[in-house]
Parts: sequence; structure tokens; C-alpha cells
Amino acid sequence: KSWARTLSARSTNPSPRPISTATLQPLTNFVPPSAAGQTGTALMAQQLLSSRSRLLSASAIDRSYLADHALSISDPDAYWSEIAANNYHWEKSFDASTVLKYNFHASKGPIHIEWFKGGKTNISYNVVDRWAEDTPEKTALIFEGNDPSETASYTFKELKAKVFRVANVLKAKGVKKGDRVALYLPMTVDLPISMLACARIGAVHSVVFGGFSSDALAARIKDSGSKVLITADGVGRGEKVINLKSIADTAMDSLGAEDQVETCLVLERLNEEQLKDNPTASHRDPSRDVDFAAACAAVSDDCPVTWMDAEDPLFILYTSGSTGTPKGVLHTTGGYMVYSGETFRNVFDYKGAPSDIFWCTADCGWITGHSYLAYGPLLSGCTSIVFEGVPNYPDASRFWSTVERHKVTQFYTAPTALRALMREGDEPVKKHDLSSLRILGTVGEPINPAAWDWYNEIVGKGNCPIVDTWWQTETGGHMLTPLPNKWPLKPGSATLPFYGVAPALIDPSSEEELEGNDVHGHLCMKQPWPGMARSLWNNHERFEEVYFSQFDGYYCTGDGAQRDEDGYFWVTGRVDDVLIVSGHNIGTAEVESSFVGHGDVAEAAVVGFPHEVKGEAIYCYVTLNQGVEGSEDLRWELKKKVAEELGAFCRPDVVHFTPALPKTRSGKIMRRILRKIADPSETDKLLAGDLECLGDISTLADEAIVHDLVEGLREPC
Ligand code: ATP
Ligand code: MG
Repeated sequence: KSWARTLSARSTNPSPRPISTATLQPLTNFVPPSAAGQTGTALMAQQLLSSRSRLLSASAIDRSYLADHALSISDPDAYWSEIAANNYHWEKSFDASTVLKYNFHASKGPIHIEWFKGGKTNISYNVVDRWAEDTPEKTALIFEGNDPSETASYTFKELKAKVFRVANVLKAKGVKKGDRVALYLPMTVDLPISMLACARIGAVHSVVFGGFSSDALAARIKDSGSKVLITADGVGRGEKVINLKSIADTAMDSLGAEDQVETCLVLERLNEEQLKDNPTASHRDPSRDVDFAAACAAVSDDCPVTWMDAEDPLFILYTSGSTGTPKGVLHTTGGYMVYSGETFRNVFDYKGAPSDIFWCTADCGWITGHSYLAYGPLLSGCTSIVFEGVPNYPDASRFWSTVERHKVTQFYTAPTALRALMREGDEPVKKHDLSSLRILGTVGEPINPAAWDWYNEIVGKGNCPIVDTWWQTETGGHMLTPLPNKWPLKPGSATLPFYGVAPALIDPSSEEELEGNDVHGHLCMKQPWPGMARSLWNNHERFEEVYFSQFDGYYCTGDGAQRDEDGYFWVTGRVDDVLIVSGHNIGTAEVESSFVGHGDVAEAAVVGFPHEVKGEAIYCYVTLNQGVEGSEDLRWELKKKVAEELGAFCRPDVVHFTPALPKTRSGKIMRRILRKIADPSETDKLLAGDLECLGDISTLADEAIVHDLVEGLREPC
């Protein structure tokens, strides 16, 4: 077999087309259009657009993209079967005549999605064996510890031996194909290695972010039915030490007999001093706990692969819980493999250059870490960085010093991290040589234009296309995203759909699909793409209910979006977050963007609250830059700024200064909590200490912030 073929498939890696600099030029000063195209901003945006419309005529969009995208939608079987067959190893070919079978109509029977039926493959084989054979000495993983002096790198050959050993340990502990294994680990290379080890033997991994509490861990072990847990004694996170073992012990002890973990493999990560301060991290239960490193050393470094049906489960991953109880999203083997690999290569412009060093700062506890730290880059044979630390330790230049030291070429992070770093000024960035960078990416939330500009100018020096990727745990990979240098960018827009993605905007009142441009609606998908979730673990009913019950025949994302004059998509936030103030639809992202455009504001979160006259009124939570004090004058100035920029009807009623915002552990603002705190009918209960109405707050990174916010209600806003 020739893996050389793997990087030369037709539409996946077209040679770079010369493109005029005009089309590369991002449209700076662009203001995102409003949710409904009714507000002053929308008008402004349209004026801006028409003055620049030459840049955005269809000719500005790469023709091969237009042709390939059209084919991927009209003939998904032909499009994806060629990519899948050329770029991945299939032990047994899938049936090329029925590559995709599905039903998206709840009215016509159960929802189901099948890709590459009849095919047998193994994603771990496609990562490990394939590159260990082709480029054995190439670096697969670079480890960057919490302590910057701790780095290491592993070749594909070394990766293979490590994966095989962990796979053999799991087998020795009785793990079989289809069994679930929970991973509650720090961001060392052991985490992606354990994921790959599970996949090698057909076990379903369920990664639980290492910042979660014992309750959250226990709930995920129980729901997934994991009998084996891989964890660590602890981990340094910035200055702090997190005692993972004691959290895991509490979680395991809380489980009933039938949900018990039978084997707990423990990675020893803490040094003597850290252990002295955290004696419970050394606790071992001899009937259950096993030393991970010793177990790996005791087994063979050869392990046969378990061939999987294309639709066999690969992993379960619980969503971040921004909107409610986390959902156990289930991904399967073949489609996820093809989709994570293809999105990686196209979106991050990976063409196999050995000098490409890809850094996704996300933890493997999130889908971003699954698809763009572990699977996507490694499936393509690209070097991927595993980062254990945090952006502000030892100081605010950590990201940039790491980019400089490892000569990172593609860098992928979250808007929340960028906003936090922007707050520290430009100096921490400017003192590092970032000339290796060629692509910058963001994911997780809409990126406000001010942060986009900073990323573009200060980090990218205006030379790096920014890929603002919109996608979800459920989608497995990027959905709306720029492809570098294939069309002009607009700050704050995720631009156009990836191959195979057929977005539709639906008007919630008529339930009709909105045709044409300059429309706003619920963002839905008309047909499956290979990486989409197939179900929720053990709860297909909830899967059908959450994603397919609103609009028959469509996958419903739960987000709202605008399609602008040029056909570009702007995700305006969760559909629940669109406010209707005096009859005007206002996207929360738009108001937040106006706040963050003020030099004193670090972050803002906007929610609505019931108002007798306006229907809904605007309530803003604002955090200020280092050293700035919230004052009555500043409050007045901010309200005025928003009213001037977006229209008088957008004038916020309440500006609530707060030291921090409530965020999920993945860094997203939990607006459902902010909505409750802003609701006057809940104020008395909240001030009396009854927090019941806030719902599940277990996925909050810092629960204490809720108390600060409630206390803030006593101040006049
Ligand atoms: P839950 O589903 O439990 O409420 P969650 O939706 O926060 O959690 P994820 O799947 O991690 O969990 O996040 C996906 C969501 O993040 C998207 O639906 C969207 O709202 C938001 N998002 C992700 N990327 C972007 C982006 N580039 N622009 C705008 N929003 C984004
Ligand atoms: Mg979601």
C-alpha cells in the first residue's frame, strides 16, 4: 500500500491557487449584522458591504470550492466515497453504492444515520500503524508541561509502542470491544494515547475533563457504564495542584454496587513535594487501583488491531452543559474518522509539510481536543502539541513563548482565552518571535470583532488567515468555517459551509426554510455529514427530541444565524439568546461586541429580562480591564455607546459590573444562569440564599462567582 497517495486526493488538497491580495484582505471595521436584519447595525453593515461588494462577488470565492461543495451536497456518496477510499485504510471496503443511508424525518420513523456501511476499519490503526510505517521518526506528539521547563516529544514509532501497551493493559483488565472506559486525566500525552488504545481494541472512550468535580465524574461513569477508569494522582494547573485521585475516589465511592468501577489505573504525575501537600493523592485501594506505568511496562508492545464496522461506536463525549443537563453524544468509527481528518487538513491548510507544528490549546476533555488535538492531526501524520498548562502561567506570554519555542505554524484557541490575554496588553505578545505562525483559529463562541482584530494584528501581524470555526460536540468537526485563502474574511463571521454541509435557516414561526440572502433564522442542517453524532448514549429518544423534533426533516443546532448579503453566515448565539426588545430582534453577540469595543471593558454578557413596556429589556454583565473601577459615569458612558452604535432601542437597562462571569469549564458563558439572576421575579429568592432556580450549576468552573453575582443585585445598577 502506498500512503503517499493519502495526501494527494482530489478535492482535499488542491495546490494553492494564486489569489489576489485584495481577496486575502480581511474586511476590518466590519460590524456584525443584527439578528433580524432590522437594527441600525444591519444597515451599517449593509452599507459597508455594498461599498466593498467588489471584493465579495462570487469570483472572490475559490472556484474549486464552489464546484466541490456543490458535488458534496448533490452526490454525497460519490464525494465522500472517493475521499474515504483514497485517504484511509479500510480492511474491508464499504459498499460504494450506498455510502449514506439516513432518515431526518421524525414523522417517517426513527431518526438514523449510517455512513460507509459494510466497511471495516480502525481509526487507531489509521493514526498509529499507518504513520509508524510511513514516517516512523517523525514527531507525532510534543508535550508542553504545566511547568514550561518540562517538554518531551514522541515519534510515530514511539507512539505506536505506547498505544499498544495501554491497549494490552486494558485487555488484561478484561476490556472488550464495545465496553466503555472513562478517562479522567491531565493533559499529558497519556490522554490521547489512552484514547487511541481504547479505539485500537474497539473499546468506547468517555473522556471526562480533568477539571470536573466528583459528582460530574460519577454521573458520567454511571451514565456510560464504564467499568474501567484511567486517572492520575494529580496535576499542576498553574500554581495550583489538583488532587485528581481524591476526586476520583469520592466519585467511585459514591457509586452504587452495579455502577462500580472495577479497575482504576493510576498515572503517577505528582512529585514528592506535591504529594506531601496532598497526602490523599497517594491513597490506593488494592482491590481496585493499579499503577498505570507499571502495568504498561509489564505487557507486550505488540497488540493486534480489532477491526470495527464503520458504524461501531468510537466514543461518548458529554456536552459542556451551557444550556442544560449534559448530553452523552455518541460518535461512531468510519464517518468520524473521515470527517475529522478532512476538516483538519482543509481548514488548517495541512499539506504534509514536515515543518508544520499544529497547536490546539483545547483539553481532550472537549470535542475540540478529540477532533483537533488527537484524531484530526494524527490521522494526517501531523505533529500535534499536547499542552498541560494554562494561558496565564507562569505569565501572560505563555501561549506566545510556546509558539516561539516550538515554531508553531497553526494555532487554534478559544475567544475567551484571547479576550483574557488581550486584557494584559500587547507587550506579552510582542516580545516573542511569532513568525512561524501561518494560520490562526478560534472555536467555542462567537468572536467579537475587537478580539478578532487583536488576534489578526497583534498575534498574526496581518499575515495569518483567521479560521473562525463554528461547530458542536454533536457535529464531530467543523461545519461553518473559512478555508484559508479561498475567500475573504469578515471578522466575526464563520463564513461558509465545509464540504458536505448543507445549512438552512428556518423561520421559527412559519417553520419554512428562508431562501436567499440577508435572512435570519434557526440554523439547521438539511442532510447528514459523515462526522455527525448518531445518537445520545442510551437515549435515542432524547437525541430525536433535542435535534429533530422542532423542524421535520432537519437537524436543528439550537443556534441562530444570519446569512448576509454575500451568503456569509454569522452565528448570533443560542436561539434562546435572541432578545426581542420593543419588537426588534437583537442578537446578544451584537450588544456584547459593542461593549467590548470600549477600551475599559474586558468581557460582557447580555441577557434579556421581562419588561412591561418593551416586552424584553437588556441586562448586561460587564467585567472591566485590570485597574479600572466600575463607576456611575462609566455605566452611563457604556449605555450611551451601545445606544449610539446599535440604535436607541438597544440602550441597556441594566449594567451590572462583576469581577468575573459564570463560565462552563470549557470557558463558555452560562447565560441561562445570568438570565435567572437578571429576572426581577427571582431576586428576592436569590437574595434570601435560595439558588434552586439556577438549575444544574455543576459544570460551572467556579461556583463561587454565582454568589458574587447575586450579591451584586444589592447594588444599584
Ligand atoms: P450544551 O449543548 O450542553 O449546552 P455546548 O453547546 O456549550 O453545551 P459544545 O458542543 O462544546 O457544547 O458547543 C457548541 C456550541 O458552541 C455551538 O452550538 C455554538 O453555540 C457555540 N460555538 C462554537 N463555535 C462557535 C463559533 N465559532 N462561533 C459562534 N458560536 C460557536
Ligand atoms: Mg450544544
